[in-house]
Amino acid sequence: MEEPIKENPQVVTVNQEKCRKSIPLALVLLDNVPTLIMFILGALIISMLTPVYGTFYVIYSAFSIIWFWAKICPYCSHHDTMSCPCGYGVISAKLFKRKTGKDFKKVFKTNIIVLFPCWLIPVAAGTYLLIDNFTFSLLLYVILFCVTGFLIIPLISKMVGCKNCEIKEDCP
Ligand code: SF4
Repeated sequence: MEEPIKENPQVVTVNQEKCRKSIPLALVLLDNVPTLIMFILGALIISMLTPVYGTFYVIYSAFSIIWFWAKICPYCSHHDTMSCPCGYGVISAKLFKRKTGKDFKKVFKTNIIVLFPCWLIPVAAGTYLLIDNFTFSLLLYVILFCVTGFLIIPLISKMVGCKNCEIKEDCP
């Protein structure tokens, strides 16, 4: 069984001090809007297989975000502060208590896997449909999905979210 890690109270205090900075709402939206667009495009692509699968994708995407709030954010120094680049830290604190006793990097790496299908399943479904029944509208959706999910979202994280984060050295 995994040994619980003792959190250094001094490190936590220093990080929470750093997390006093408020992220402007415009930057929080910039972090979230492309993710929402990607989920909509993913649902549109998968719905071309069958609307039931598209609905399942929407439910799974919502579940994965709630999982993130429940399992990752409570261990982050941004939890319950206005300095979380995407605002999840505030929402998570309303639903889940702050947790300690585990290494944030480990918690992040273990649980982030739950989000991978949100990126990978639309690509797999889109590729299958393009081979099986090519249409230009489907091709456009797949290109837009890939550009949003694999280029715009990581770039915004890197150039805006992570760039402005006071504790980026502690983040995986
Ligand atoms: S920075 Fe990431 S892990 Fe930390 S509270 Fe915000 S969304 Fe959650």
